[in-house]
Amino acid sequence: MINSADELFDRLTGKGVVISDAEKDAIRRSSGIYKMSVSDYYFDLIDWNDINCPIRKQCIPSGDELVNPDNYAPDPLNEKKYEHVPFLVHKYRSRAAFMCSNSCFMTCRHCTRKNTVMNSEVCTREAVPAALSYVREHTEINDILITGGDPFVLPLELLEEYIKGFRSVPSVNTIRIGTRAIVTDPEKITDELCDMLAKYHPIWVFTQFNHPKEVTAEAKSACERLLARGIPLGNQSVLLKGINNDVDILEELYTKLIGIRVRPYYLYLCDHVAGTAHFATDYTEGVELVEELRYRLPGYALPRFIIDADGENGGKVSIEKNHVLKETDDYLLLPGSSEETVTKFVR
Ligand code: SF4
Repeated sequence: MINSADELFDRLTGKGVVISDAEKDAIRRSSGIYKMSVSDYYFDLIDWNDINCPIRKQCIPSGDELVNPDNYAPDPLNEKKYEHVPFLVHKYRSRAAFMCSNSCFMTCRHCTRKNTVMNSEVCTREAVPAALSYVREHTEINDILITGGDPFVLPLELLEEYIKGFRSVPSVNTIRIGTRAIVTDPEKITDELCDMLAKYHPIWVFTQFNHPKEVTAEAKSACERLLARGIPLGNQSVLLKGINNDVDILEELYTKLIGIRVRPYYLYLCDHVAGTAHFATDYTEGVELVEELRYRLPGYALPRFIIDADGENGGKVSIEKNHVLKETDDYLLLPGSSEETVTKFVR
């Protein structure tokens, strides 16, 4: 694993890759502010001959992270406000998130939590009693998301202790794990880990593939190990300028994902997080992309396009085109099965 600019430069020298002094300086400065870590596996996916390599852009710090428009904040989703006991975020009525780790196998440059969780103190088992008491008292919580950071960086016994604790709460129905290990270090999805998870069903795993280059044979095998234990897999991509804001790329990504039995679930608008402005797209671009994908993909391969909003009544809001082209007392005019056709629905 590469954890610093100097380690990265040594690795590049070993590979015979030359980068400019200006880029080295930018990498040093941004990695001094925002944590950097890249697994050997993910590093090896980079095409150093391609300046726009989508893998490189997701994991190698850049000077663009130092440019922050006024509307970019360290914690735009205000997660701290909803952290009612340490490491437990309760924002939506029936769901709570337990932030059990503050590191990942690869620190994504677009991470929503790059200013918060990734820079915070690490959760320890001492936090568990208060978190469990809170969940026991709030019987409306029936779904626990174990996240961070990446929960799979934890020692297996510690992660099991956390999962077992939440599973012991009668009102908790589903436990979800949020992890990018499948994408960024798939060998970490060991048989031992999968066997442990399967003891606490219903367990769901959600991951984040953003580009078809990430759907490798190794990632497929990791998914198969989880699926073999009856663990459903969902994908939450982020719409990232210069990486996947292209309909052909998204079509290929989602086609590959259903091919490895990972259900495309959400496509997020990139949050306005300090250090990520260079990845932002306008929300209308996401709406148009998903609209075009609707004609190209089977329904179960189509993610919902989501804006994550802050506020008491905020949350994940699904945005899509209004599909009623015309409405009369007698009928609705709707888009057809191709961009050129329309359908008449008689009321
Ligand atoms: S895997 Fe998730 S939590 Fe970890 S750095 Fe990437 S986006 Fe952030």
